[in-house]
Amino acid sequence: MQREYYEPPKENILIVDDSPEHLRLLSSMLVRRGYHLNCVTDGEMALYAIQASMPDLVLLDIIVPLIDGYRICQALKAHEKTRHIPVIFVSSLDSEIDKVKAFKVGCADYITKPFFIEEAFLRIEAQLKIYRQQKDLDDLLQKNIRDRNHIEQELNQSRTLLAGVLNSSLDGVAAFEAIRDSDSKIIDFRWIVVNPVAAMTVGETRESLEGKLLFEQLPGHLFDSLFDVFVQVVENCIVFDKEHQYSFDGSWFHIVAVKLGDGFAVTFRDITEKKQMEISLKQMNYKLQHQANIDSLTQVANRRRFDEYITQEWGRCTRQQKSLSVILCDVDYFKFYNDAYGHQAGDECLFQVAQGISLTIKRPADVVFRYGGEEFAVILPLTQKEGAVKVAQDIREEIKKLKIVHDLSKVSKYVTLSLGVSSIIPNPKYSVESLIAAADRALYEAKSLGRDRIVYKSLELTID
Ligand code: GH3
Ligand code: MG
Ligand code: MG
Repeated sequence: MQREYYEPPKENILIVDDSPEHLRLLSSMLVRRGYHLNCVTDGEMALYAIQASMPDLVLLDIIVPLIDGYRICQALKAHEKTRHIPVIFVSSLDSEIDKVKAFKVGCADYITKPFFIEEAFLRIEAQLKIYRQQKDLDDLLQKNIRDRNHIEQELNQSRTLLAGVLNSSLDGVAAFEAIRDSDSKIIDFRWIVVNPVAAMTVGETRESLEGKLLFEQLPGHLFDSLFDVFVQVVENCIVFDKEHQYSFDGSWFHIVAVKLGDGFAVTFRDITEKKQMEISLKQMNYKLQHQANIDSLTQVANRRRFDEYITQEWGRCTRQQKSLSVILCDVDYFKFYNDAYGHQAGDECLFQVAQGISLTIKRPADVVFRYGGEEFAVILPLTQKEGAVKVAQDIREEIKKLKIVHDLSKVSKYVTLSLGVSSIIPNPKYSVESLIAAADRALYEAKSLGRDRIVYKSLELTID
């Protein structure tokens, strides 16, 4: 306890008194209690000591040589740097006027001489306590101010950084807050942040957009058809990430919208060029694909496509357990046709035959192919024998109707076809090749039997 009581406080106390007796009394009492003391005996020394040592408390006699206590106190209180230092007058002047004057010039307390030493000490302690608390408060305040300045500085830095990012972004960036009606239903969105690219895209300035209502005050904008989408983003935290066509001018934007507070942030990029390139690439691909599948002379699908398609349809008919039929058609005595009319006329004839066959094909899945030189094939998915033979008859009739003169044919005045037909519900015992082989055998038989006719043949078992 003893040690705690005498633990030296840090405060410096200045005593201004020209009476040696009082000086001694006060100083011995304060030194014993661990204070640092500085004692002066006149007003000038007092002002000098205040400036030099910045005491934490001044015990001031009123009547001291050169400058009296009131003026010392006034000088101390007039200065920014010293006005916080508490002053206790310690004086033998006991009148009300003196005391009032003392408080008017700014003293914190007034001790009348002679004094009880313990009372004087308690009063000094009380002022020092207030002084310490004030100092702690000031320190805290200063710290708060420093912290706040620091935070503000950081905030400004991040604002500047953010503005830099937003301003230099090639993407449009904007943030919106939801506007709700009395039932809390979203009825519009308000622009709260907008970067230059975003403003430019909607043909406005940033200043004119901020605070504006997106749908009510800005009709016909890029987001015109996306109100419901944005409501979903806000209400259900859905991330919208899509390529969107601006109906106004057909341009394309990649738009990403995410929930932000009670609203959403959106970034968007003009991808019109990329999109146009994609579209023309697709068209080109389609054209190339088409070219790769089409026979240039007859403009029907080619042999490559035949191989692809028959495998595909074999699979489909296997799965559905439905008939797949193939017709092979061969122009009769075509070599003679070439001989009679020339190769170019032969080409023209093949084109007409191909178109004629195509005319008889009605279902979308039925396809005509140029199978080889003057041979054509027709694949008829989901078609039974009877149907296939009927199509073959139609083809034969259609080509007859064309009446392409063929003087060197031994079966007719006009160009005719021989047709081999085959049909099967695919099953593992057979292969695509066996179906084609059966149609080929049928065609061969049609030729052998005199041409200009149709022969149907079913499949023979595949020999493994
Ligand atoms: P068949 O009645 O037995 O079928 O007799 P053909 O003369 O039609 O049969 P052959 O196989 O002996 O002759 C086919 C002819 O088809 C020979 C070939 O020059 C002709 N040919 C094949 N491809 C083309 C083509 O692209 N253009 C023309 N003009 N002729 C072609
Ligand atoms: Mg042939
Ligand atoms: Mg032929």
